[in-house]
This record gives sequence, structure tokens and C-alpha cells, in this order.
Amino acid sequence: MDVRLLEATEDPERVVCTAARCDYSSGFVGDQSFAEMMDTVEGDTIEEKKETLIGHLLDHGHFGPFEHPQATFAVEGISRSCMAQLTRHRHVSFDVQSMRYVAFDDVDPADVREGAMVVTPPSATDPDWVGRNQSGGAVDGETIERREQIFRESVTESVESYQELLETGMAPEDARFVLPIGTEVNMVFSMNVRMLMHIADMRAAADSQWEIRELTEAVLDHAAEWCPLTFAHYDEHMKGRKNRLAP
Ligand SMILES: Cc1cc2nc3c(=O)[nH]c(=O)nc-3n(C[C@H](O)[C@H](O)[C@H](O)COP(=O)(O)OP(=O)(O)OC[C@H]3O[C@@H](n4cnc5c(N)ncnc54)[C@H](O)[C@@H]3O)c2cc1C
Repeated sequence: MDVRLLEATEDPERVVCTAARCDYSSGFVGDQSFAEMMDTVEGDTIEEKKETLIGHLLDHGHFGPFEHPQATFAVEGISRSCMAQLTRHRHVSFDVQSMRYVAFDDVDPADVREGAMVVTPPSATDPDWVGRNQSGGAVDGETIERREQIFRESVTESVESYQELLETGMAPEDARFVLPIGTEVNMVFSMNVRMLMHIADMRAAADSQWEIRELTEAVLDHAAEWCPLTFAHYDEHMKGRKNRLAP
């Protein structure tokens, strides 16, 4: 999996603070300098004032101002299973690599056996991996060898069948029905900061599946650079909180 930040609102925390100051100001933020509108906020420097205001908004659940800055991410090589989880979030905009217009007819099945085209879950190869909802714990070497062999054979056969169906002239959009849910996909998705925090609440949590957790942690790493004050506060005071809204 490769997660990149493609585009993002410039100076997002200034946008958040400007929107929040609009709420409580008798003047018009359109006519004020940033220093003027932040004048009454506690802090010696503009950075300290931003930190005070952002912390105050987050602590009081005043999330509206965080809906203004928007970021666009690209991810390469997540499973269609992970995609299904991510696309449940209705305030995110998505573009998904098509399996109607992109035919994976040139992938070598030998490479699929080695891990190309289909995501390999850690539980297929790591005897010590214990996932959520797993009935047993760690397994012995013989069991993990058998598990990996079943997994690799199954996904390789699926890709071979898919390619044979393409060779018969079947449309890629129909031939794809035989591919596994672990088949890789590339996506572009955009969301605002409020939604990013909501996804982090849901998907960086321990009860989330390893793949979407990995994706969310990578998005959070980008977010920490893009909106440093917000995500420092989120990390310290909000991440892992129990009062999530769903499921
Ligand atoms: C660990 C885990 C296990 C899960 N298991 C399952 C499962 O077995 N089956 C399954 O179907 N899903 C499952 N989900 C998905 C989950 O139920 C949600 O559908 C998904 O996380 C989207 O989050 P959300 O409901 O907060 O909605 P989002 O689309 O992210 O919306 C954000 C918020 O906006 C508000 N909102 C959005 N749309 C509406 C609306 N129409 N009406 C009212 N309020 C709205 C809600 O407050 C919502 O929390 C699971 C999620 C997790 C994290």
C-alpha cells in the first residue's frame, strides 16, 4: 500500500480559525487581517493563538470550522475489501480504478503467487498474527505453511480463470466476477478535516481491520504535517476515545 497526499487546502488551520472567528465576531472577517481577528485569543504569537483556538474548538466539540479545509489522497494497492470499508463513509468523495476499463490481462499468474495483484493478509503468512474475531491464537509452522499454500493457490487460480475468460472475449466487467475480494485497487479520495478525524475514530481503532487501520494511520501521518496543531491535539486528547458514533 502506498498512500500519498495529492492536494490540500493551503494554510488549513488559518482557514479553521477564520471560520471560527466569524462565529463570534461583531466585525466581518472579510475586512480584517488575520492578526486582528485573532487579537482577543490567548497567546503571545499567532501560532500560540491558533493552538489555543483550535484546542478550544476541539475540546468543546465545535467541529464545524474543521469542515472547510479539504485534502485529496491517492492510495495504491488496497484490497477491494478495504475499499468497501472506506467507501461506507458518506462524506468522502471517491474515484476508483475501473475493472470495466482496465483489464488485468498482462499480469503473470506466477507473480500473483508471489503476492502481485491480490493483497496477502498477514494471517496468511505470519504464524504469530492474531487478528480480531480470530477463533484461535498463534499457529505452528505446518499450519501456516498449509494456510499460505491454500491462499496462494486459490488467488492464482482465480486470476488464471479471469484471464482465460478474457481470452474467450468476455467483457472485463463480467470476467472480474471470479476475482477475489483481496484484488488490489487504486483510489483517489477527498475529505475535510472533520471527516478525517471521524474516520480516524472509526478506522484507526483497535477493533478495525488491519488494512484499513494501516491506511488510516498513513492518512493521519500526512494530516499531522498538513494540520499540525489540529492533529497534535487529536493525538493527545481524542484518538482512541470511546464515544464513537458508529457502528
Ligand atoms: C469495527 C467496525 C465494524 C463494522 N462492521 C460492520 C458490519 O458488520 N456491517 C456493516 O454494514 N457495517 C459495518 N461497519 C461500518 C459502520 O457501521 C459504518 O457504516 C461505517 O463505519 C460508516 O461510518 P458512519 O456510520 O459514522 O457514517 P459516515 O458516512 O462516516 O458519516 C459520518 C457521520 O455522519 C452522520 N450521518 C451520515 N449519514 C447519515 C444518515 N443517513 N443519517 C443520520 N446520520 C448520518 C452520522 O453521525 C455518521 O456517524 C463497521 C465499522 C467498523 C469501524
